[in-house]
Amino acid sequence: MRIIESAYVHIPFCTHKCDFCDFAAVANMAHLEDEYTQTVIKEIEQRLARTESPVRLSTLFFGGGTPGLVATSSLDAIVQTLARHVEIASDLEFSLETTPHAITDLKLKEWRALGVNRLSIGIESLQDDELSAIGRDHTRDQALRGLAMAAEYIENINLDFMYGLPTQTLSSWSKTLDELQELCARYPQIKHVSAYSLELAVNSPLLMRFPRNSDAYPEEDAFASYFEALLLSLARSGFDHYEVSNFARPGYACRHNLTYWRNEPYLAFGVGAHRYVDGVRSANFRSLNRYLREFQGEEMHEVIDEGTRLKEGLMLALRMREGIDAISFADRYGIDVFTAYNDQISKLQSLGLIEVEGRRLRISDKGVLLSNSILTEFI
Ligand code: SF4
Repeated sequence: MRIIESAYVHIPFCTHKCDFCDFAAVANMAHLEDEYTQTVIKEIEQRLARTESPVRLSTLFFGGGTPGLVATSSLDAIVQTLARHVEIASDLEFSLETTPHAITDLKLKEWRALGVNRLSIGIESLQDDELSAIGRDHTRDQALRGLAMAAEYIENINLDFMYGLPTQTLSSWSKTLDELQELCARYPQIKHVSAYSLELAVNSPLLMRFPRNSDAYPEEDAFASYFEALLLSLARSGFDHYEVSNFARPGYACRHNLTYWRNEPYLAFGVGAHRYVDGVRSANFRSLNRYLREFQGEEMHEVIDEGTRLKEGLMLALRMREGIDAISFADRYGIDVFTAYNDQISKLQSLGLIEVEGRRLRISDKGVLLSNSILTEFI
């Protein structure tokens, strides 16, 4: 049984629901914060009592939602509950997500006292018209102010960005990236950048203002240029591209997310939270009201058999730029990838989408943008 080293806690509260957001997030529900905290605490106690695998946390991630918005005493109560029930490593990577305008000096002091040593700030864009197009309720100036404050207290900062936004052009994206490069030079505390292309859920409110066929969105075939500009900019700032959408200064890959991509087990608590524990992937209810009533209930429950574990392991590993080491993969999953997937590998290699170096298999630079289609070849 593999030791569980990571835990995720979902905090759903936000100042405002962004128009593109498909996360379990709610606005104007701050009055439920205490009840929610108490429910998460009960969930932690009851789930841990049933967990068979040994637990020794080396990463803890408060995501959302906007965990930076709630009282630090609420976060503290959750951390203390975890600390009472499981061993916590002394070098814990403790990440907290926040919007830039939820950052204050007082909060930063409290977060640091709580043990937060990695802050993830949702910047998304440095252009005000793009921020307002996607329904964010912060401005570029607030983003810069939040970052400047955070850099005084936290040594390991991640910035989240998005591209493919309505009203965005290659030129405005390049402007954001140029400014990001300056920020990375000014703040060595920026250790990590995530940049995802906008994905619209079917009922996304953003579609009301910008339907899918709106020419406010960048052309699909321009995405390669957006992605190349991103790679170039972050390479100039000395960041390694270590996962399809994630970049880090050397030694600062997000250890928590590596748990997911390495197909390792992890705990998760809170509304809509997904976990992988004792060979089962499961998720809590996404509705806040239902979660508060039935925090032990499950929206999803899947026992992971050997075949699924292998496929997931393969797909997650290929998202990493280091790819798959066939020898350790065989040790863990009992198959030789080069034999089992010979046809797919030959085809993708001839298209220049996969590279083979000795016993290592990885998606090529040319293939990264097509990662999703490449991965489906292996299913
Ligand atoms: S701040 Fe983040 S979690 Fe909250 S509504 Fe906006 S995108 Fe969703």
